[in-house]
Amino acid sequence: MSNVKKLAVAGLGATVLAGVTLLAMQDATPQPDVVLIVLDTVRSDYLSLCGEARPTSPNLEAFAQTASWTCGAVAPGSWTLPSHASFFTGMTPLEHGAHEITSGVKDFSGSSSRSRPLKKKGGPPTLAQQLGRRGYHTVALSGNPVVSESMGLTRGFDETTVAEKFGRLAEDDLIDAVTASLTSAPADEPLFLFVNIAEAHQRWEQVPANMGWAEAGDRALLKYAKLKENDPWRQYVEGQLSAEEQAAFDADIDSLYAYNTWRADQTLGRVLAALEESGRCGEDCRVVITSDHGEMLGEHGLLDHGHYVWESNVRVPLLVRGADLPEGPINALHAFHLARDGALPAALTPPVVMSWPHVRRCYMTRGEAFCATSAALWDGNDKLIWTLEAKAVEPRIMRFDLSIDPDEETPLSAEGHPRLSELLELAAAVQADAGEEDEVDQSVTEALRAAGYLE
Ligand SMILES: [Zn+2]
Repeated sequence: MSNVKKLAVAGLGATVLAGVTLLAMQDATPQPDVVLIVLDTVRSDYLSLCGEARPTSPNLEAFAQTASWTCGAVAPGSWTLPSHASFFTGMTPLEHGAHEITSGVKDFSGSSSRSRPLKKKGGPPTLAQQLGRRGYHTVALSGNPVVSESMGLTRGFDETTVAEKFGRLAEDDLIDAVTASLTSAPADEPLFLFVNIAEAHQRWEQVPANMGWAEAGDRALLKYAKLKENDPWRQYVEGQLSAEEQAAFDADIDSLYAYNTWRADQTLGRVLAALEESGRCGEDCRVVITSDHGEMLGEHGLLDHGHYVWESNVRVPLLVRGADLPEGPINALHAFHLARDGALPAALTPPVVMSWPHVRRCYMTRGEAFCATSAALWDGNDKLIWTLEAKAVEPRIMRFDLSIDPDEETPLSAEGHPRLSELLELAAAVQADAGEEDEVDQSVTEALRAAGYLE
């Protein structure tokens, strides 16, 4: 039930008056349905929409025909929690505070990282809360278990369905949930539907033999318990594979990820078709599609996501129907404004991203992965990165000219760059926000363990 209805039945004079006024305003200007779709773990450069040769994203391409879109958006965070908290508040991870925190990285002790959820009480009003106050019926359907109540991410939704594990609310199950929500949504209230499509997130499905454009990769290489001694995944990030083994591994994960990105796009197509068939989300409907982060597929010797600011981890698509996007990199947290207002704010948040270490995984991979504290900002084709590795005393400051070095292989000097001081300020804030100051929330730890993020 929306706030307007709650107010209207409250029976107190002043409250009823407020409710009636709101209802009258709604009658004057009908509010459009709003749909926000996050393609979890979908990096731009693997999309045929963005130039990939394999046909990985036919449905995004079809949607783009009717939308303003970019392949040059920058995810606000490096993994699900910080990015979704940004999509739901319009704030950066430094502002909303929901991200990985740690106190143990400096002594390299192997103590566990923890995550700080989006504040459940007294935090910034979420997109669902703000639209709920305007009379919207609000629904969240997530194939990613991290988008959960324990993370503070379902605050404000009237209805929430979240997968218990990756793979549980995908394909047919997700489409059934979307259809059920559309059928039961009150016809006299505008709808806000949030959908997280997690098919591109590990665990990946095996490529079927008849795919044609994708070779059958070996999914066993990527089993989620990846921190066992002698596990190929672990040997990969620790640099223990021979050149031949590494090349075979690279080919497999390239194929698996491309195929599972295609699966995410197929589910997207079915969600959009379900919307059309339902009669909701008509002409004036606001549809925003983006991704919360990418995936490292061997670049810089790394796999997975969540602890890096490299392009592979943070460059994502952003598509919107009914609003215009500017040229150049844009912070994908503006999905919040595009969904709420149907427009970008007058003052844009610059594209910046930051990441914190996963201390335990860093320790278990002997300091080869999951270890850095990093911050990055974009300035046209220039990208500036500040990063402090676990074993390093001094941070590295790098500049890349993405127009000639899109793979970030040749760091240039950032000395004298007009935005260097801004990067250093950002880095100082990232370091200052790394420590834990809150009580540990056991439900958060349990939710991450269930999702496979904690061993
Ligand atoms: Zn994610």
